[in-house]
Amino acid sequence: MQKELVSKLIEKAKEVLSNGSAEKVLGWKKGLFEDDITPCVFESAEELEKDFTYDENYCGNLCKYLMKQKGHKTAVFLTPKYVFSLNEMIKENRIKQEEVVVLDLPENTKAEEDRFARVKEIEAMSADERHEFWKKEFSRCIRCNACRDVCPACTCEKCVFDNNNLYTSQKVAQTSFEESLYHIIRAWHVAGRCTDCGECSRVCPEHIPLYLLNRKFIKDINEIYGEYQAGSDLETKPPMLTFKEDDEEV
Ligand code: SF4
Ligand code: SF4
Repeated sequence: MQKELVSKLIEKAKEVLSNGSAEKVLGWKKGLFEDDITPCVFESAEELEKDFTYDENYCGNLCKYLMKQKGHKTAVFLTPKYVFSLNEMIKENRIKQEEVVVLDLPENTKAEEDRFARVKEIEAMSADERHEFWKKEFSRCIRCNACRDVCPACTCEKCVFDNNNLYTSQKVAQTSFEESLYHIIRAWHVAGRCTDCGECSRVCPEHIPLYLLNRKFIKDINEIYGEYQAGSDLETKPPMLTFKEDDEEV
């Protein structure tokens, strides 16, 4: 089944290269080990035949890698959920719509009955319990920046956390305050633009449930401004970037 799917994907990729609809294809290549699959840019049928692979357990959202393909018409493999990230990036002028061709991938995650169930459990905790919960989670953070680097909503050319004049750059946090600082800024920075793609949690080597922070913001935004899915289209402005006189004061 997996082999069959990979062959089909290779054929799709070869087709867009041969008919000229894309100059490059963004997909994945085999690594040394089964779980060592790496994002890769392919430019020929030979490269695709030799190295292309796909495994839904190890392949995630490739949108962020499009930032490096500016000026080149690039085909990219995306599941329906990851198309939300693409739309959001186009809307924010991070990439050009006319430079991207989407190659459909089957959805790789199961629909959840209530994606906010765990958020509600945390909301039900006392403030002290919540503080302890997050302090414990953040204490494992090694500040590898993977969650930031992979996030399609985190696309500033200069990031405050890379500023060498600040004591926060490129280092493991020394105190729980520093740990929280990074995570609170990261989560606020993508509030209203996070598509809930899950990539930040997927890549975290410490298995910190970052999606819970993102979903808390999504849940609050839905409750305050009405249901909103970031990246559901190319037109709607995010609630946090618009203002209505009857907006709730929070
Ligand atoms: S990916 Fe995980 S360990 Fe790395 S900076 Fe993010 S939260 Fe910390
Ligand atoms: S789920 Fe994580 S990686 Fe995906 S858009 Fe939201 S913050 Fe970024």
